[in-house]
Amino acid sequence: MEINNNYKNLETSYLFSTISKKVFEFINEHPEKDIIRLGIGDVTRPLCKTVVEALQKACVEMGTQEGFHGYGPEQGYSFLREKIQKYYQNRKVNLKTQEIFISDGAKSDLGNILDIFSKKNKVLIPDPVYPVYVDTNTMDGREIVFLEANKDNNFLPVPDKNLKADIAYICSPNNPTGAVYNKDQLTAWVNWALENNAVILFDAAYESFITDKDLPRSIYEIDGAKSCAIEFCSLSKTAGFTGTRLGYTIVPLDLNYNNTELNKMWLRRQTTKFNGVSYIIQKGAEAVFSEAGQEEIKENIDYYKKNASIIADTLKKHNIWFTGGINSPYIWLKCPSNMESWEFFNCLLYNIAVVGTPGCGFGKNGEGFFRLTSFNSYEATKEAMERLDNLLSNL
Ligand code: PLP
Repeated sequence: MEINNNYKNLETSYLFSTISKKVFEFINEHPEKDIIRLGIGDVTRPLCKTVVEALQKACVEMGTQEGFHGYGPEQGYSFLREKIQKYYQNRKVNLKTQEIFISDGAKSDLGNILDIFSKKNKVLIPDPVYPVYVDTNTMDGREIVFLEANKDNNFLPVPDKNLKADIAYICSPNNPTGAVYNKDQLTAWVNWALENNAVILFDAAYESFITDKDLPRSIYEIDGAKSCAIEFCSLSKTAGFTGTRLGYTIVPLDLNYNNTELNKMWLRRQTTKFNGVSYIIQKGAEAVFSEAGQEEIKENIDYYKKNASIIADTLKKHNIWFTGGINSPYIWLKCPSNMESWEFFNCLLYNIAVVGTPGCGFGKNGEGFFRLTSFNSYEATKEAMERLDNLLSNL
């Protein structure tokens, strides 16, 4: 018996445990201070009314003989897949329901999708990045090439013509940088993938934060993308489903490599290893796509976006360089006075009792940068920015 030795190559992430430790120490030293956390990566607003009603109704239904549901279709109930199909249609993206797969969240699918690709493939991952892409490929022993995202390219790198890779990750709006690719940039990615026979894994977990009509919310808004991209999406940030769990992945029928349809492979993978998402949760998700559901989730998204704009305004006032904060819940800023990420972390914690996330925790290019999020309350965000404004005025 031999274990998967690739696990030994995983880097232990000390980021969030170190943050907790430092905050704990600070609270012990200064119990009187009111700490404001702007490092939160989870949503905080409750589920909307229409969703809760649908969940309750589905629960009651499950307790009746006529309404009981056992195993459902592995790919998801058609009532939900049809709603998602319509959601894409509103953006002029036409999908077939067989191309839509319901899951318990984007993280699972981002990891599981690698089952259908050879371990010999070379993978292209931007730095800084959501760590799941790196870790899931490390577990399989794939070769990883990092693509430099930095201030010079506004943290939106596009692959060079000569760059060779088989699988490429794009996250837009991005975690951690909040940066969003425009149509031209995504077209460059799609053309690169088509020329290199590569597949793009497009993480659209934050698409609902895009309000700028010119920015693509799906990679399929780009010509040719259906022949080279898989899209991952989630109701986690869109509708507060981080604890409820529901995501969806689009595997177009046109995706064909080595004379094999990826859609068929993924269907086979899911029907073999996955037994579907609970009926109750899928009913809750269906309600997200109803007219009332869409209006109610928009209120929550607007709430977070308002927080983001308060943060952005404070940074602008002090001429601090940043990305995100407009079509994203994340703000990625250059640490003032050329501080390193942890130095700025300590500066915020000890001077104004505000907690954020050091950029260096997301990759080497994150050093010197810092992530703030808009997921705290309006009052707390406003108070934190008043404190930051004062601090920066005296730096
Ligand atoms: N993709 C990105 C970029 C994320 O930041 C997250 C969660 O933070 C996920 C995917 C995971 O989403 P889910 O909750 O659907 O698993």
